[in-house]
Amino acid sequence: MHDNCPECGQKYDLEQGFWYGTGYVSYALAVAISVATFIAWMVLIGVSTEDNRVFYWLAFNGLFLVVLQPWMMRLSRVIYLYFFVSYDENYKQTNPVEFDHKQ
Ligand SMILES: [Zn+2]
Repeated sequence: MHDNCPECGQKYDLEQGFWYGTGYVSYALAVAISVATFIAWMVLIGVSTEDNRVFYWLAFNGLFLVVLQPWMMRLSRVIYLYFFVSYDENYKQTNPVEFDHKQ
């Protein structure tokens, strides 16, 4: 990942430990994906107390989240950065977003 945006020069890592917050975004995404796969599993395969189908979902979902991790990590960073830096159509004239305090 670049340190700064190649187009407008926006610094991505806004302060020390800035990306720590992406863990929370990534967690929310993982929960949303798990709910979605569980609903899909209920509709397509079904969930019952009589057999182990729900545990197969658990194994599938765990594996699915591991496979998706490289994309979820990047998506989390994009979403987290959007909390602090919004699109600026005059980016050529204005300065990139910085936090007020000095590091
Ligand atoms: Zn940019």
